[in-house]
Amino acid sequence: MSDGREGLAVRDVVVRYDAGKDGVTAVDGVSLDVARGETLALLGPSGCGKSSLLRAVAGLEPVAAGCVTWDGSDLDGVPVHRRGFGLMFQDGQLFPHRTVAGNVEYGLRVARTPREARRERVAELLGVVGLEGYGGRQVATLSGGERQRVALARALAPRPRLLLLDEPLSALDRGLRERLATDLRLALRETGTTAVFVTHDHDEAFEVADRVAVMSRGKVLQVAAPPELWRAPASRTVAEFLGYQAFWPASTLDPGELSEPGGPRDSRASDRSVAVGPAGLRVVPDDGASVPAATWRATVVGSVFRPRGVEVTVDVDGPVGPERLVAVTSGAAPEAGTAVRVALDRAGCAVVGDATPAPRPSAPTMP
Ligand code: ADP
Ligand code: MG
Repeated sequence: MSDGREGLAVRDVVVRYDAGKDGVTAVDGVSLDVARGETLALLGPSGCGKSSLLRAVAGLEPVAAGCVTWDGSDLDGVPVHRRGFGLMFQDGQLFPHRTVAGNVEYGLRVARTPREARRERVAELLGVVGLEGYGGRQVATLSGGERQRVALARALAPRPRLLLLDEPLSALDRGLRERLATDLRLALRETGTTAVFVTHDHDEAFEVADRVAVMSRGKVLQVAAPPELWRAPASRTVAEFLGYQAFWPASTLDPGELSEPGGPRDSRASDRSVAVGPAGLRVVPDDGASVPAATWRATVVGSVFRPRGVEVTVDVDGPVGPERLVAVTSGAAPEAGTAVRVALDRAGCAVVGDATPAPRPSAPTMP
């Protein structure tokens, strides 16, 4: 039985724990599609239900309502090991007493793949994850990053039709995490693997995934490709989670900026705000003579050098009152205590609707 759809489809899925009177609804009616060959990231803060959703897809957690299908076939009642899905977790959980090759070939042995084919596949996968020649090493001698590379090779070896990754890089330190995120993306591409990648780190989600599903409190708030998600967050909640640092009235922008869509004449315009991104505020020269329009007074708190420019922490006397924000400058780092002015940099900002619905007009009160 198939509806012709290819890949993974999640429909109105609910996951509950202790479904008695004090039950927790961890996943609250989620629908998603992952096309073959695509990588989808599930991005959201800790506790929002990412792992619960992933485990439901894997068959490790019962689905209280809704359904999970692959190529249109319902997976209800199909046990974990018959789904053809691969799993990888934060701690790769390698077999400590096997060599690297012994770990990578594990799934192939289970599938009774002949020895020569196993040997070839292991060599190929070690190449994909950047561990050529590591086959004979004991896993106890590997670094944390190397272990996760082995875990990835092991998960990919049996050619899973879907790879489910739950925060596979979260235990690694930052530099290593960034490098591994790039390598993970390349490995998924090179092997044509369809994947769902769980993370709480937006940089990582953007780096690895073709599309990102932003989750909050058991629900999916928005699904979009990284540039679109960044350019047009669906709500303030999404924007906050992506790292937008402040929300100013839409009127802060030049009215011309608001003409599309739902411009100034749109009744919703007043509900919208400018989300100021990490690079959405610029320090502008203040020569004292002319005060540039649409700028705000600020006092420098401190500056940090970054390869792409100096980040200046400022106390801004902004349109919604005093706020401590980060502005960027291409010039020298101003000293703490310096009075400056800051302006919005449109390229680093987005216009978002207010997630909270406008209050209903209250009923007239009796005199
Ligand atoms: P995330 O992976 O996004 O951090 P989880 O899916 O682990 O979120 O958890 C979602 C919610 O479900 C949380 O409130 C968590 O406390 C709860 N939860 C997760 N696993 C269990 C469990 N086995 N029993 C009861 N509650 C759980
Ligand atoms: Mg989790």
